[in-house]
Amino acid sequence: MATTQIAPERKAPSKLFIGGEWADSRSGATFESLNPATAEPLAQLAEARAQDVDAAVAAAREAFESGPWPRRDAADRAELLWKVADRVAARAAELARLEVLDNGKPIREAEIDLREAIDAFRYYAGWATKLEGETIPVRGNILNYTLREPVGVVGAIIPWNFPLLMAAWKVAPALACGNTVVLKPAEQTPLSALELAAIAREVGLPPGVLNVVPGLGETAGAALVRHPDVDKIAFTGSTAVGKVIMREAAETLKRVSLELGGKSPNIVFDDADLDAAVKGSYAAIFYNAGQCCTAGSRLLVHESAHDAVVEKLVERAQKLTPGDPLDPKTRLGPLISREQLERVLGYIEIGKKQGAELVIGGRRARYQGEEKGFWVEPTIFDRVEPQHTIAQEEVFGPVLATLTFRDEDEAIALANQTIYGLAAGVWTSNVKRAHRVARRLRAGTVWVNTYHPLDAASPFGGYKQSGYGRELGKYALELYTQVKSVWVDLS
Ligand code: NAP
Ligand code: MG
Repeated sequence: MATTQIAPERKAPSKLFIGGEWADSRSGATFESLNPATAEPLAQLAEARAQDVDAAVAAAREAFESGPWPRRDAADRAELLWKVADRVAARAAELARLEVLDNGKPIREAEIDLREAIDAFRYYAGWATKLEGETIPVRGNILNYTLREPVGVVGAIIPWNFPLLMAAWKVAPALACGNTVVLKPAEQTPLSALELAAIAREVGLPPGVLNVVPGLGETAGAALVRHPDVDKIAFTGSTAVGKVIMREAAETLKRVSLELGGKSPNIVFDDADLDAAVKGSYAAIFYNAGQCCTAGSRLLVHESAHDAVVEKLVERAQKLTPGDPLDPKTRLGPLISREQLERVLGYIEIGKKQGAELVIGGRRARYQGEEKGFWVEPTIFDRVEPQHTIAQEEVFGPVLATLTFRDEDEAIALANQTIYGLAAGVWTSNVKRAHRVARRLRAGTVWVNTYHPLDAASPFGGYKQSGYGRELGKYALELYTQVKSVWVDLS
């Protein structure tokens, strides 16, 4: 197979990882991964299709049914997950660079992803030995107790915006609980998942426990969702694809957990520390070039604070310009693909047509003086109406929609007025208001006087059409275990 090995950080072959071995795709198909900063090809990789997914599921099933993984001492599983974390940590600098090349994000942000991915492996390594059942006082001379057991073979399907981190959020808890995994990374960013496979092999994870099948959603992803031998699908991605997955999974009654899109409100009250609010609102929308499911893409600002907040935000956004993503000083990276570039520019046109006021940005940005790669200027719309498309639909780019409100009730009504409910921000110096508003927001995460922090220990997931199931924290254990009730007659 033709291989372009442009990135020296790569240790893994450009192949599929099935049953502990590197394999070409059975069809011989390959696909390309690009560097979004320049649109230049980065690697040519084996592309998994249905037959390859079959082989990966068979390996995962074999490892689950006959292999040592689910029956292995929990302490051994913990130790292996900890070794994965150690190995990721030892290679953190090169893995961060690889993530930058494949995804385009600034190196400073990739380093944060790496730290959080390592945290996830360590956090769930800790849980492996703490999955306990209960003894239950039932009627009769009976010992009744529960066993918390793995669900079986987990199909993990992840997006491109935080490639290694999304893999870690699924693989770490799934393996800690004794499941085996088939991971399908996003077609735009398959490289770090292959490195994770190489690390799993290196630290001695038994064959078949983790399988990685880069490929396309409509083929490899769909085959995984339909496969009768997969017990659960853990998905992160768009709400549209989440709905398809739920329908397809119904045929085999798979368990499904869905982390989907958002249109998160970021509410600035007039009693807030406005400098802090501006700084936070800027990060809320422009981090990862707005390609965060939790992006604070609707700025709801009290009418009396409006002018000051918008003015200061524009000042900051003016300084946010394309830079080499590998440069530690760079804060703005490109979008992931030409498709996303066109989609985001399309939303900007709709915003203008519907009458929102474009105050800054709005165009494709040039990189190194040329129109290459998939860059968009930081864009702020003002005077957005709640029914405008850019106030309702997820843009997934550096595009902010600003709306104003007159009082707390109106702010909450506006905040809750979309189909989504992933996250929300609240900026206020009034303690009572902070907690009151946090309760009234229909969102899985509420940040008060901050935006974006996450931690492996704290649950994350959506309300409404942002999905269901909670990743991270002890809540993720519910996704990857099932409970058995055992009755023993003692009479
Ligand atoms: P996407 O199109 O939904 O893709 C996500 C994953 O699903 C990719 O691996 C994709 O494969 C795969 N896929 C696509 N169609 C499929 C199908 N029919 N069956 C099975 N798998 C399929 O989303 P995206 O464009 O990559 O990511 C952006 C979206 O994800 C945004 O809407 C964002 O809000 C959401 N997101 C949500 C979270 C969260 O935690 N809630 C986190 C990140 C992103 P391909 O790679 O081939 O497309
Ligand atoms: Mg790429």
